[in-house]
Amino acid sequence: MKYYSTNKEAFVVSLQEAVVKGLAPDRGLYMPERIARLPKNFFDEIENSGLQDISKTIVEAFFGEDIPKEELDAIVDDTLNFEIPLKNVEDGIYALELFHGPTFAFKDVGARFMARMLSYFVKEEQQEINVLVATSGDTGSAVANGFLGVEGIKVFVLYPSGKVSDMQEAQFTTLGQNITALEVDGTFDDCQALVKSAFMDEGLNTRLKLTSANSINVARFLPQSFYYFWAYAQLIQQTQFSKTVFSVPSGNLGNLTAGLFAKRTGLPVDRFIAANNRNDVFREYLQTGRYNPRASVQTIANAMDVGAPSNFDRILDLYSHSHKAITNDISSYRYNDTEISKAIKNVYQGSGYLLDPHGACAYLALKEGKKPDETGIFLATAHPAKFKKTVEACTGIPIQIPSALAAFMQHKKQSITLPNDFGLLKKKLIGQS
Ligand SMILES: *Cc1c(COP(=O)(O)O)cnc(C)c1O
Repeated sequence: MKYYSTNKEAFVVSLQEAVVKGLAPDRGLYMPERIARLPKNFFDEIENSGLQDISKTIVEAFFGEDIPKEELDAIVDDTLNFEIPLKNVEDGIYALELFHGPTFAFKDVGARFMARMLSYFVKEEQQEINVLVATSGDTGSAVANGFLGVEGIKVFVLYPSGKVSDMQEAQFTTLGQNITALEVDGTFDDCQALVKSAFMDEGLNTRLKLTSANSINVARFLPQSFYYFWAYAQLIQQTQFSKTVFSVPSGNLGNLTAGLFAKRTGLPVDRFIAANNRNDVFREYLQTGRYNPRASVQTIANAMDVGAPSNFDRILDLYSHSHKAITNDISSYRYNDTEISKAIKNVYQGSGYLLDPHGACAYLALKEGKKPDETGIFLATAHPAKFKKTVEACTGIPIQIPSALAAFMQHKKQSITLPNDFGLLKKKLIGQS
């Protein structure tokens, strides 16, 4: 399968090149030339299949021309080795819990899958690769844990010193092995600028193979489509329904785009809702047809604090830039911190279900946007214990931290402090290899 750039000014490339490079040379995002329709009998039998089996079929449809089936199956087995339960929260409203993986947030699936796929290609190319990732907290932990111990890859996590929570810091500074935490004397934006400079620096790129691990990478965002199929299979088992709608808490729109791909392969989803917090660039685009990226503002659902969603161009491309076609499939609602906090409190008091701020935003959007004849699923993207203080302040009830999450705090922090200086970062990166 060939991959083209959404900017259409770069050559088409192989899957290998799309995954190793991440971003196309014309700064566009890679898209597969074709999206296979899955056969009808796959959907007829889906309710009797497990998560791994369903995912193996989908992964073969996407990547089967380029990677041997045994290899893909092994990658799926190694990635989806935890539960993704669908829970009934209220009449007609279900939560798909995507937070039972190593770092208790949904990015675990994409990060692990990408690590294994990149490792496969690195072996082919016989040259070690360096993954650089800037994080304000959660991406760093998912990427570090997803890539931990994966052959042929070194990971450098750049994070702003003193600006991530202790628990987040512990998730990427205590791992060792192929993971190095660089503690930058600066802000998250400084970290991101350092990573950008590294990708642009010719000298560095001739010495080292560098890549990123964010959701612009096809190997990271596409595997996120697996769980839409799995949710559908579980819904058939649990209830009778005619129409389905998914509500997705959205930031960079990687998760939503994966859902749109799932629909394109034939998954019978009627439509999607993109839940926004106060960072509502995408909602504004749906309402007005104008896209106006801007600086993000801070909210309690901070993994959605994105002012220029990186997968926006993929959505435009998927719908041939038709605003009408996009709004046929997707609607959007937005909520402020007060509304999100109230939802956490009210749902807990009403049904005993505990939401995290991201899931709460998606719940609210589903509640507002779902029509009476639709069955709704919202994606619960993070474990509420990851946002312990916020969630406890809403419900007044202490949260138990899962032991696997608490265990990160038991290990010794290992980080290398780094001034906000690209010259020094470059020295550090070249010095290590
Ligand atoms: C990253 C993240 C999101 C947003 O997902 P996108 O793919 O960036 O839209 C939502 N919730 C949580 C908990 C996340 O970590």
